[in-house]
Amino acid sequence: MSHAAVPPVLVIHGGSGVITHDLTPAKEKAIRAALAKALENGYAALKAGKSAVAVVSAAIVVLEDDPNFNAGKGAVFTHDGKNELDAAIMDGDTRRAGAVAGVQRIGNPILLARAVMEKTPYVMLSGRGAEAFAQSIGMPLVDPSYFRTEERWQQLQKALKEDSAGKPHADDETTKHFGTVGAVALDTDGHLAAGTSTGGINDKRWGRIGDSPIIGAGTYANSDCAVSATGWGEYYIRTVAAHAICMQVSQMRVPLKRAAAVVINQEIPALGGNGGAIALDAHGNIAIPFNTDGMYRGWIDASGVPHVAIHGDEDDGSSAPPAPAPADSTGDAGGQAQ
Ligand code: ASP
Repeated sequence: MSHAAVPPVLVIHGGSGVITHDLTPAKEKAIRAALAKALENGYAALKAGKSAVAVVSAAIVVLEDDPNFNAGKGAVFTHDGKNELDAAIMDGDTRRAGAVAGVQRIGNPILLARAVMEKTPYVMLSGRGAEAFAQSIGMPLVDPSYFRTEERWQQLQKALKEDSAGKPHADDETTKHFGTVGAVALDTDGHLAAGTSTGGINDKRWGRIGDSPIIGAGTYANSDCAVSATGWGEYYIRTVAAHAICMQVSQMRVPLKRAAAVVINQEIPALGGNGGAIALDAHGNIAIPFNTDGMYRGWIDASGVPHVAIHGDEDDGSSAPPAPAPADSTGDAGGQAQ
């Protein structure tokens, strides 16, 4: 389905669960710069008439390459001291999708997820098989040491100490380094896409796969709505969060902001989970609900002005886009829990 021409919109995130006392001024500056660069690259592609899928991957590659985020380089470590990465991408109009899970040698998992969508009859490939597919299409494999950063290594050491002291840390700050990255875009043809890439959760075991690569849980797009989530993945899987938001928008005509808030700030916390999401509808309305201290986020709405924000109390400075927004006249990018 094709929509009347609308101004392009791009929304990105670099994860929820921002821990304010961990955020040095230098790190905050680097994160804001990376978010701005991802917006800039993605928006340049949008303005050049590239598809929403191409824009989403262009923005996510910037964040995967930046060691400050839990995706690509800088991914968290598993309990066994490895990096196992997950990613997914979805094209809203065709509802084609591609995903990879548990890959250990792919520098940009979002590009492999896109290749799964575009070059195979499958939706999700995992582990070694996904890496063999990458090789078959000439995508270079990286040495597993590529992903390592000292900061993530120390986060694992802290979690391991807590493990051996018998201290549960499933809900503590060590585990809640939700630095997953994602993007949703509305291109100049009115098509939507969503993508998400992550290292998962610090100290994860036994081949654990989170919500990010699961279509409908952490990533979903159709012709009305696109969502990329970040947070405690098990809850996003159990609520099929991204799909739950889009179904309200598509089938029940619930305004995007309300649909996203119901799932992220009501349904998930009621079960004991937390996190956030970015959501975009076909009219250019944006919603960025989260219930953590902060969320790394950025957007360029129909006005064309880039915005970057981190903290929960930051003035997002945005309101409904100037484009006609019949489905959600209250759509905004306000990120505060509600
Ligand atoms: N949702 C991701 C996962 O559970 C974590 C994150 O958002 O950082 O794998």
